[in-house]
Amino acid sequence: MKDHDSGKLIAIVEDDPDVARIIEQVLRDFSLRTIWYRSAGDLLRRLRTLSPDLCIIDLGLPDMDGIEAMQRVRAQSSCGILILTGRAHVSDRVMGLELGADDYVLKPFEPRELVARVRSILRRRENTAAPGTRQVAEFSGWRFNLGNNTLSAPNGEEHALSTAEAELLKVFVQNPNRILQREKLMGTRDLAPTDRAIDVRISRLRRKLEPDPQSQALIKTVYGAGYLFLATVNWPEEGNSGGV
Ligand code: CA
Repeated sequence: MKDHDSGKLIAIVEDDPDVARIIEQVLRDFSLRTIWYRSAGDLLRRLRTLSPDLCIIDLGLPDMDGIEAMQRVRAQSSCGILILTGRAHVSDRVMGLELGADDYVLKPFEPRELVARVRSILRRRENTAAPGTRQVAEFSGWRFNLGNNTLSAPNGEEHALSTAEAELLKVFVQNPNRILQREKLMGTRDLAPTDRAIDVRISRLRRKLEPDPQSQALIKTVYGAGYLFLATVNWPEEGNSGGV
């Protein structure tokens, strides 16, 4: 398969050689280059000369706390960061996203799911470099057209969004799995951070997106911090999505 991710370099920090082998194999199947480190220290030393496009960091490492490792990678490199974490460490996952990871994958994982997350981060990074190329976002069966503010439901039903709702959803799809402070979500409008308008707008968007608005499956309130859009977002017009 030919696509623009070809040859991108993915660094993997994982102390379990079996898991590392699975990750390397599936990424290579998608023409990505990989380099594996058994410890965070090994990667951090190499980062002085190596410029990976993305680092996959296991949060359970023998030599260093995974969150600390992630922060140190972030301090040295602007690469994408995907964290791997066990189900028991949900708070680590949230903290990881808060501290600069782009996404996370729970262990045990489906190799194809991992590749999809990696490619989504790579694509997002490219889109950030070239704004204006993103028109259609897909997430959880939904399709959001940023060009005309329409939202298609998984069942095909179309909703037209107000400009305010579309602006809000645009920030969410461009920053998935990341805690967004209220200020960030208010965009260019003159709203004070305490303004109820943002909450009203969120609840209107939730009524459109969530089968049960109380469940917060997609738009999660993080008390005292802001909101989190929990979804893998794909931008299908960006080349061939490859059927992943
Ligand atoms: Ca581990």
